[in-house]
Amino acid sequence: MINFDHRTISPITMPDFQNELHPYLKKYFGFDSFRDQQEEIITSVLKKKDCLVIMPTGGGKSICFQLPALLFKGTTLVISPLIALMKDQVDGLKANGIPADFFNSSQSAEEQQKILESVQEGKLKLLYVAPESLQGLSPILKEEYISCVAVDEAHCISSWGHDFRPSYQQLGFLKSTLPLTPVIALTATADKATRQDIMVQLKIPKAKQFLASFDRKNIALEVRPAHDRVSQILQFIKGRPNESGIIYCLSRKSTETLVEKFLDNGIKAAAYHAGLDFDSRNKVQENFIFDKTQIVCATIAFGMGIDKSNVRWVIHYNMPKNIEGYYQEIGRSGRDGLPAQALLFHSYGDVIQLQRFASGAANEEVQLAKLDRMKQFSEASTCRRKILLSYFGEFLGEDCGNCDVCKNPPQFFDGTIIAQKILSTIARLKEAEATGMVIDVLRGAQNAAVLDKNYQEIKTYGIGKDISWTDWQHYAIQLINQGFCEIAFHKNNVLQLTPYSKEVLFGKTRVMLSKPIKKEERLALEKEQKAKKPVSKNSLFERLGQLRFQISLEENIPAYLVFNDATLKEMEAERPTSEEELMEINGVGQRKLEVYGDLFIQEIKAFQAEKVKKKKKSHTYQETYELYKKGKSIEEIAELRNLKPTTIFSHLAKLYSDGKDVAIYEFVDKETIELVAKAKKALEAPEALKPYYEYFEEKLEYSTIRLALSVIEKEEIL
Ligand SMILES: [Zn+2]
Repeated sequence: MINFDHRTISPITMPDFQNELHPYLKKYFGFDSFRDQQEEIITSVLKKKDCLVIMPTGGGKSICFQLPALLFKGTTLVISPLIALMKDQVDGLKANGIPADFFNSSQSAEEQQKILESVQEGKLKLLYVAPESLQGLSPILKEEYISCVAVDEAHCISSWGHDFRPSYQQLGFLKSTLPLTPVIALTATADKATRQDIMVQLKIPKAKQFLASFDRKNIALEVRPAHDRVSQILQFIKGRPNESGIIYCLSRKSTETLVEKFLDNGIKAAAYHAGLDFDSRNKVQENFIFDKTQIVCATIAFGMGIDKSNVRWVIHYNMPKNIEGYYQEIGRSGRDGLPAQALLFHSYGDVIQLQRFASGAANEEVQLAKLDRMKQFSEASTCRRKILLSYFGEFLGEDCGNCDVCKNPPQFFDGTIIAQKILSTIARLKEAEATGMVIDVLRGAQNAAVLDKNYQEIKTYGIGKDISWTDWQHYAIQLINQGFCEIAFHKNNVLQLTPYSKEVLFGKTRVMLSKPIKKEERLALEKEQKAKKPVSKNSLFERLGQLRFQISLEENIPAYLVFNDATLKEMEAERPTSEEELMEINGVGQRKLEVYGDLFIQEIKAFQAEKVKKKKKSHTYQETYELYKKGKSIEEIAELRNLKPTTIFSHLAKLYSDGKDVAIYEFVDKETIELVAKAKKALEAPEALKPYYEYFEEKLEYSTIRLALSVIEKEEIL
């Protein structure tokens, strides 16, 4: 363990830092190499330059200030918006052997005093604090104690952003108080106006900007129409037992309804929304982090800063307001780099509701424009990742191959007649009805709403019976997107014609429509995705996971803080059986090696040994079986294999029990079997053979007993 007393490290000059970066990365974080721009950012921070880091959630932001904190003398102050998450972050650092703590209103005056003292004594490398508690730190807000200021979730400072927090707006005083101390601001929001705002308000106008790639290749993207959402979600989850996931909803009510459904189906789930008090919300979050709750159904406020690395999927029950929010939320899945899934349900009802929310807001125009981009993404018929990345100013050359459009490209056909049917129905309904009624009329529905208005008299009534309701909806949405008709949001969302409608109705324009994806096709796609990662119950991964869970219970820390899934997967593939080999695995740092190394090595060794044993055994049976199938007698097999005939008999018994083609009655007669069956009953089915041997007064050989028992078991004679 390195002595963190700064007197032993200082004075440090730049070249020393540079040589220390990789050893520190491995020792404290367990990684062999930096990701993307991490090294460049860290070097810049170490040169005491102000930085603005824009990196997607899960892109490895924290290391950019945590590693320099270890090399600087003094304490790095981390401003973080949510008190509830600090403990988790600090636990993660401690698990890596890094002295860290947090400072907030939940602590007593004595506890707070102790923390201030440990900063003054140079014992803490990182101190997390909420902006509200900063004033309590005034005794240590001096350049002799504070080495660096990191402002996490820095977009909270800007009212342009989507997570504005007024308490963030006072943070400019930090630069005035500590003018020589570098400030590193970090966010996952790339919006230009927000970026500018962050630099102005934090008083770091010359901050070097780092814009990391927003591509999170491991997250598969999918958008589905929103009909029958609940059963679609249940189906999705049933295919992923024990996988952690988050479902985002617009309303509190939806979160509660979903949770009820899950509990009815025996799935551990909890709701998270503003209506819960602080403690209840904390509890939900903690149970999720500790893998005690599999699913959290939340309104948007859930998850900021959650470091849980094994969230395997995120579902948007409703459409998000904008792409920033969507991207940040799906980014909470797959932080360990393993495959993850993002599923979004798209409905016009949601679009309408979000438009209502936005109207009248101070920045209505901005909000509506952002919503429009979100809508375009949801309705895309080209690679979705391309659209997403272009929003963040990135260009993706090739299609991604990991979104629903790439995996199942839309097939277009001439849909002019379908379009004419829809448009002429809209016209005949005098442009006074919404999509649902238009489809009902096309399909000849007999419901009261239709009959009351005498719509059965309309000429196009019932001309579309051959097409399902959801397919009609799919086509109507495409016509809206292509501008052949439109929704009048201010007139109860009725469908209206546009100047282009006539072109279609009079046959002057052909309309290309994409075929809807059938349910069976989707299921096939799901199956294919699942087939790629079969996790067997007896796999080494599973066993290491159980060991990790035991440790997490004993130490009362989340399982992923012991080792994350990606590290366990690598252990499974590499099978390290020495400390040196284990240290080669990504995610294994010095402290974790010291604390957990032995346990994991033992588990891997035990697993290997069992496997060899099993293999040997099954091999020996197989050899006997092959000779038996060649027509060799028991004596011949015994001689060829240099084994006793009794052993060969017991092999045959085992082979017979396993369902192999062995003519067992050639070796044991029915009468003997009946006798052994009686003995089994009388002896109450002992495990060992010896009681039988004694029961028959040593007159029946062990091998015969064994053969008889295999018949009794296989044919369930008892
Ligand atoms: Zn794609």
